[in-house]
Amino acid sequence: MGERVTSHWEVYTLKYILVIGDGMADVALERLNGRTPLEVASKPRIDSLARSSSYGTAVNCPQGLPAGSDTAILSIFGCDPRKYYFGRAPLEAADQGIGVPDGSIAFRCNMACVMPDESGKLVMQSHSAGGIDGATARALIVDLLEDAEYSAALSGAGVTIYPSDSYRHIGVQRGTAASALEMYAPHDNLGRAIEEIMPQGSDNAETLANLVRQSVPILSRHPLNSARVAEGKLPANCVWMWANGTSATLPSFETRYGVRGAVISAVPLCRGIGALQGMEVIRVEGATGELDTNYEGKAAAALAALRRGLDFVAVHIEAPDECTHCGDLTGKIQAIERIDSRFLAPLVDAMGDERFRLLLLSDHYTLSTDGSHGAQPVPFIIYDSHEPQVGVDSYSEAMCQPGETIPDGTALISKLIRH
Ligand SMILES: [Zn+2]
Repeated sequence: MGERVTSHWEVYTLKYILVIGDGMADVALERLNGRTPLEVASKPRIDSLARSSSYGTAVNCPQGLPAGSDTAILSIFGCDPRKYYFGRAPLEAADQGIGVPDGSIAFRCNMACVMPDESGKLVMQSHSAGGIDGATARALIVDLLEDAEYSAALSGAGVTIYPSDSYRHIGVQRGTAASALEMYAPHDNLGRAIEEIMPQGSDNAETLANLVRQSVPILSRHPLNSARVAEGKLPANCVWMWANGTSATLPSFETRYGVRGAVISAVPLCRGIGALQGMEVIRVEGATGELDTNYEGKAAAALAALRRGLDFVAVHIEAPDECTHCGDLTGKIQAIERIDSRFLAPLVDAMGDERFRLLLLSDHYTLSTDGSHGAQPVPFIIYDSHEPQVGVDSYSEAMCQPGETIPDGTALISKLIRH
C-alpha cells in the first residue's frame, strides 16, 4: 500500500532536463513570408509540451557583452557573464582539462591558411585551412612543437600549446595579466594582411605575434602541407592565435542548486562551462555540432545519465546556429525539426511516468538575415510532467513574448530547479 514503484529507476526523484537549441530564435524573414524558422518548422512534440508549459522570454546576453553562446550559456547555467565571462578560450581549455592558472592567459591556436597577395604580403585565406581534418591538424602542430627553433621560442615566451583533434588547439601563456591584449578572429578578417591583425595592445603582444610569424615558414615546408597542396587543398601553414581570456573559475552547480548534473554537447565551450561547474561531461559518438549530429544518441545519453542517478542533464544542440552561420535556412528549419522528432520525442517518451521538469530555449538569436548573433530576449518554456500549466500553442518568439519577462537570464535555472 502506498509503495512507490521504482521500476528500472534507481531512485524516485524529480529529474531536470535542460535543452538548448543553439541559435534557434530568429527574426521574421521575407523568405518565410514574414515568419521565423521556429514558426515554420514542424515540431509537434515541442509544441505539445509548450501547450502545458509556463513560458516567457529571458535576457541571456546582457548589454555591453558580446551576444554569443559563451555569454548566453553562462547565463543559462546561472553564472552571470558580467562576473564570470573571461573570454572564450579558457572555457574551452577547461573542456580539455587544461588549467589556466591565475596570472596566465589562454587563447585559441587555429591551424589557418595564409597566402601572399600580388604584392607579396601574407593575407588570411582560411581560419581552418579549408576545414582541415582533426588528425592532420594534430600531426602538424605536434611536429611544429618538436621543431627545435619553434619550441625554444615558445618556452622563451612562456607559452604552451596543447594539441587537440581539431583545427583549433589551445595555447596558454604564463606570467602575464595582459588584459589589454587584443587578438583578432581569423574568420572575421579573411583577405586582410595578417600584419594588420597581429596581436597588439599589451607588452606580450609582439612576442605572440612573433610566434604566429615564425610558424609560417616551418609549417609551409611540412610534407603534410605539400601533400595537401598537391591534392588541391589549402595548406595549414599558420598558427593563428586569438580568442584570449584569463583564468576562469565558476561556482559549483551542485552547491548552488542541490542537484548532480551532466552536460552533453559537441561544442568544447559548452562542455567547458559544465566542467568548470563540476558537472560530468558526457561525450556522444557522432555528436558533430552540425545538422547531421547524432540526435538519438544525445537523447539516449541524457536518459542513461538520469537513470543511473543524476538529477539534472543539460543537452546542447549546436545545429541550428551552425546552419544559420552557413546561410542554410532550410538546414536551420530541419535542425529544429530533428531536435523535435529525433531528440525530444524519444527522450520524453522514455521518461514515461517519471516526473521531470524541462526547460527548453534558444541561447541567443542567430539571425538568418546576416548570420550574426542577437541579444534579444529569447523565448523559453518550462514544462512539468506532473503540473501542467496553461501554455501556448507553439514554442516561438511571438508566442512566448506575452509570457513572463526575465530581465536576467541567470534566474531561469532556479525556475527550473526548485529546491
Ligand atoms: Zn549559441
